[in-house]
Amino acid sequence: MGSASLSAAIKSIRDWSMNEGRATTTPVNAGEVFGSLAFNDKVQQQRLPKAAYRALRATITRGEPLELATADAVATALKDWAVEHGASHYTHWFQPLTGITAEKHDSFLNPTSDGGAIAEFRGKELIKGEPDASSFPSGGMRSTFEARGYTAWDPTSPPWLLVGSNSVTLVIPTAFVSWTGEALDKKTPLLRSMEAVSKQAVRVLKLFGSTAERVTATCGPEQEYFLIDQNFYFSRPDLINAGRTLFGATPPKGQEMEDQYFGSIPERVLAYMNEAEAELFKVGVPVKTRHNEVAPSQYEIAPVFETANVAVDHQMMTMEVLKKVAPKYGLACLLHEKPFAGVNGSGKHNNWSLADEFGNNLLGPGDTPHDNVQFLVFCAAVLRAVDKWQGLLRATIASAGNDHRLGANEAPPAILSIFLGDMLTDIFEQIEKSGGAKSTKQGGMQDLGVSVLPKLPRDAGDRNRTSPFAFTGNKFEFRAVSSGQNIAFPNTVLNAAMADALEYVADELEAATAKGEDLTKAVGKLLVKMVKEHKRIIFNGNGYSAEWQKEAAKRKLLNHKNTVDALPEIITPQAIKLMERFKVLNSREMHARYEIFLENYNKTINIEGQLMVLMANRYILPAAFEYQKQVGQSIAAVKAGGGTSVSGKKLLASYTKLVDKFKTQNDTLAALLEHGGGTAEKHAKYMRDKVVPAMQALRATGDAIEVLTPHEVWPLPTYREMLFVK
Ligand code: ADP
Ligand code: MG
Repeated sequence: MGSASLSAAIKSIRDWSMNEGRATTTPVNAGEVFGSLAFNDKVQQQRLPKAAYRALRATITRGEPLELATADAVATALKDWAVEHGASHYTHWFQPLTGITAEKHDSFLNPTSDGGAIAEFRGKELIKGEPDASSFPSGGMRSTFEARGYTAWDPTSPPWLLVGSNSVTLVIPTAFVSWTGEALDKKTPLLRSMEAVSKQAVRVLKLFGSTAERVTATCGPEQEYFLIDQNFYFSRPDLINAGRTLFGATPPKGQEMEDQYFGSIPERVLAYMNEAEAELFKVGVPVKTRHNEVAPSQYEIAPVFETANVAVDHQMMTMEVLKKVAPKYGLACLLHEKPFAGVNGSGKHNNWSLADEFGNNLLGPGDTPHDNVQFLVFCAAVLRAVDKWQGLLRATIASAGNDHRLGANEAPPAILSIFLGDMLTDIFEQIEKSGGAKSTKQGGMQDLGVSVLPKLPRDAGDRNRTSPFAFTGNKFEFRAVSSGQNIAFPNTVLNAAMADALEYVADELEAATAKGEDLTKAVGKLLVKMVKEHKRIIFNGNGYSAEWQKEAAKRKLLNHKNTVDALPEIITPQAIKLMERFKVLNSREMHARYEIFLENYNKTINIEGQLMVLMANRYILPAAFEYQKQVGQSIAAVKAGGGTSVSGKKLLASYTKLVDKFKTQNDTLAALLEHGGGTAEKHAKYMRDKVVPAMQALRATGDAIEVLTPHEVWPLPTYREMLFVK
């Protein structure tokens, strides 16, 4: 019974706040623990022979190839460090196309001839691992008999120690490739895309007189999540198996009072956050902010930004830690994009920028005119990248879960557009009109009065929560990314798209200056051209509004409302050419991703559909019949007493009608789930057009039954309980 889990939840909350929680939580000193379980730069410097340290740094900062001798030295230092911290095993940790992470543990111990054993770890083992790869999705890139897959150490991401209740394991971040060298994971293409964007960005920087030889993509992802009492979680088959509620009537109070966002954090939740953050600190994840989000029981955690591939690793670790720590506090952490209908879903704001090796942020409007024009060029390149590759970017965030957010009645919309803010927009408008900004002063913006070199304020303007891609002062924020996903692919495509735009800029400017044209003039002309061509992507208005849908259609912006519409963008000839040209992914690798994403969609909808049928048959219908019986008995009792239960009869009639409808709809859904088939593509369309609507219809009736059924009889925790009892 749902009411039993309510009692259990209430008891656990009371127990926690009265005893365990308060007694056992000791605050950690963040400064002391930060990185204590990470083999970071500081430890590397202390532990590695000088030459090896220098060689490793050269690999990390300049991408120089790593010699086996260096790997041997690193392996020994790593092993000694890990064993001193109690480690017995190591693992190559990777990010297969399942979307989660994978690890296989190997012991350091090797038997010796005298019957003993010693801890050993060589460069070879550090550099390369060979998990049996046949059980990971390859999207047809590899048949099961060619099961070989290799994990390759990513020296740019620091290893760390995974501490279990009675085990310590050294975790080595790796890329995962097939024996033909094709990427079977999310990290390989990310690393390739970072190379690509670096190369093109350096070309552009050189024109502006920079001596930078390397540019890195930076990323700071903000993670939204829900926390509910674990007793509720375990009483909901849908939460356990689908990550979201498939039934559940809208509660009387939702988020309309706007009393949750940035509100005070409940004590048990705060204690949980503190421990999750402490765990993350130890392994070197620079967590920085925490707060309540918009929906009831929704929260957010965000780190300080890092190099994109490290940020991606740390983001995966963050999701794992958030989930792992929750049960200690009697909580369940939900990372799904839409755990509850009717209140906000969860996203992952992917803050992204580029920085040169001296640490200069290339999307930060600096103080000097020289910085400014360079900034404007990079900004214009972002406009071009997002406009030209909007379809592919949209596809990177497409999933069954994110369909509940994008293009549904929730922000951000499925249309990609860029919010620039008034000041930047104004500058680009002036550039377009007159080839440069006029010497007018407006709203805190100081203009230089010459050509294309307006002086920008440090804080370049307002905020807009409805934009899927917003400029936020010194970086862009890709907001349509979903809460549960690995952020590697969106960043991969973003980098590749940016490499393409910067290549265009570099080609144009190099050609102009080679002809003896003045750089400033050439930039001026190019900016005008780029703004004219790509200004349609700029939208500063309300992204939720119906007018925007119309306006976007007029501007011929893509509007892929669901996963099935969006995914084919991955295999368009242009997309494949882009990724091949920059050596990020080849055609086979792109097709594989398309297949895997489609299959993932199909499997997700199938699981959800099956679960609904199961819940209808085993939970909702039995409860409904029970209540029907109770009402029937009550009517009979009134009759036996000589009266007539008018309202009882009425209720029974209307309730019975609903239940019958529910049963019919459930049979329909069950039958639909038996059919479909064909290619993954055809099946996906079937799932979207037939199964999803049947699920929605069944849910609507189920929710109507819920609000009429007594608390004592209803078998599932309700929204009101799950979201507000905390
Ligand atoms: P807001 O969302 O309010 O702008 P912040 O300015 O604190 O919040 O930044 C949000 C996220 O953006 C943080 O994770 C932060 O580290 C990240 N961020 C800031 N600067 C950059 C940058 N140059 N590149 C990538 N991410 C960045
Ligand atoms: Mg933000």
